[in-house]
Amino acid sequence: MAQEAQIVTRIAPSPTGYMHIGTARTALFNWLYARGRGGKFVLRIEDTDRARSTPEATQAILDGMAWLGLDYDGEAVSQFARADRHRLVALDMLAKGHAYKCFSTQDEIAAFRDAAKAEGRSTLFLSPWRDRDDHPDAPYVIRLKAPRDGQTIITDQVQGDVTIQNATLDDMILLRSDGTPTYMHAVVVDDHDMGVTHVIRGDDHLNNAARQIQIYRAMGWPEPVWAHIPLIHGEDGKKLSKRHGATGVMEYAEMGIPAAAMRNYLARLGWSHGDDELFTDAQALDWFDLSGIGKSPARLDMKKLGNVAGWHIANAEDADLVAQIAQYLDITGRDALSQVQQDGLTRAMYCLKDRAKSLPELLDKGRFVLENRPLNYDEKAVNTLDPVSRGILRELTAQLQNASWTRDTLEGVLNAAAVSHGLKFGKLAGPLRAALSGRTVSPSVFDMMLVIGREETLARLTEAASLGD
Ligand code: GLU
Repeated sequence: MAQEAQIVTRIAPSPTGYMHIGTARTALFNWLYARGRGGKFVLRIEDTDRARSTPEATQAILDGMAWLGLDYDGEAVSQFARADRHRLVALDMLAKGHAYKCFSTQDEIAAFRDAAKAEGRSTLFLSPWRDRDDHPDAPYVIRLKAPRDGQTIITDQVQGDVTIQNATLDDMILLRSDGTPTYMHAVVVDDHDMGVTHVIRGDDHLNNAARQIQIYRAMGWPEPVWAHIPLIHGEDGKKLSKRHGATGVMEYAEMGIPAAAMRNYLARLGWSHGDDELFTDAQALDWFDLSGIGKSPARLDMKKLGNVAGWHIANAEDADLVAQIAQYLDITGRDALSQVQQDGLTRAMYCLKDRAKSLPELLDKGRFVLENRPLNYDEKAVNTLDPVSRGILRELTAQLQNASWTRDTLEGVLNAAAVSHGLKFGKLAGPLRAALSGRTVSPSVFDMMLVIGREETLARLTEAASLGD
């Protein structure tokens, strides 16, 4: 039985200094498609623009991929390093008559365009060298001999059949006069050589596909499956820009969005599986298909991202969340947690993760377990610690000395204390919360007491009770 060829997808970013979330989403779609089908996913850095392709700009892409957890097969390929191969293919096309040397100068091309404009003709440059055999001793570029008649149909998995009139396609340059390849040429040679079977990318490249197809045909190479996905827009439907929210994927890492939540959210930006909004990687890998990609631009929705993040935090393992927090502190250049703090956070995590929408929210809610005595009481907390409340805390300290340290017993003791002072439980919880956390917002007093234990609880109550003494 013939074996189905292995699927190979790729992400081919140009280094721009950071990883745009559009690129991150394209990478994710390619990753999901390949990994969900036992295929390969490769990374190529399109670093032919030497001015922009600094090591830092390349590193920014690698960092984005690593944070998002999108692993790729083999090493990242440098497009620039493959320039010799691009040249060879261009020369091969020249030898086979699919390309030609064009000696037109910039001035001649400009003059052609001016004349065309004046006569109301298309300004698409028609090189006089296309059908000439004489070769002057002068600089030249190598151009593709593109078909002039008929049409090219891009069979696209997202856009459907897209028909482009060949008369609108120019004889694009493959090799510049200094012998360097153009992006349009390099991308095809690389995709072919890397065995890419599916090109899934932004629909800003749709027109490029019509021109790139000519190279596949000229070389007799199999065309990949095309899937051009609509770009991401802002909430107002306009092209995504800074004012809509963060555009760089690492900005989301710096906000403390869990990477798993980002994958879930990005997967839903332009792709859907029924009404499913919240899902795991395993489900996305199982469900992802090109047929689920929509034709209209997806809109970035920060509120929705927060909800997705909340779901992933609530469902993550406690130890995993602590590891993610450690990574978050590292990414944002902050001090690492000590082992004691990490252990405390792990113990506390069950009462922190229910409604948190980001990793810093977990840290904030977990302050009661991260800080050492003497606590820094905030102003509101200090206000709850009036003389009467401090008296009650002192009483409680005595009563809790010998109480067994279970939720039931603690509830019993605290409720009885409230009743004996004719207070609603909430009135008692205020100063208690302030004493245990130094703040007026925190997890429940029972959770805090259970997490920090008897000794620390008593020490904090004693400290708060003596405030102002
Ligand atoms: N290097 C191109 C970009 O960053 C992508 C090329 C492609 O996917 O074919 O937009």
